[in-house]
Amino acid sequence: MPADPELVKAGNQAAKIIGGYAIVAYIAAGVIVIILLLIRQSIEGLVQKVISKMKNKNKKNILGKCPVDGGGLVERDGKFGPFIGCSNYPKCHYTKPLG
Ligand SMILES: [Zn+2]
Repeated sequence: MPADPELVKAGNQAAKIIGGYAIVAYIAAGVIVIILLLIRQSIEGLVQKVISKMKNKNKKNILGKCPVDGGGLVERDGKFGPFIGCSNYPKCHYTKPLG
């Protein structure tokens, strides 16, 4: 079956156009994937930062030993500012001024 040269030409042109679009779409898809990965990474980083911050908040430095029950003494924030209190609060009410 002899190919119509005009049809071949049109076909080639169409293929070129579609190929061009395909490359643009391919690059755009790649860029979108990279952007999504970056967004995901930054979100994951943010989440991890928040989690580690929360962990640090829960994991206060033990500043000493409670003389009443041997619990850890931790820095606490009170109405009148920070103070040292027993980690077994409210079981133990031992406090002492900070510093
Ligand atoms: Zn105590």
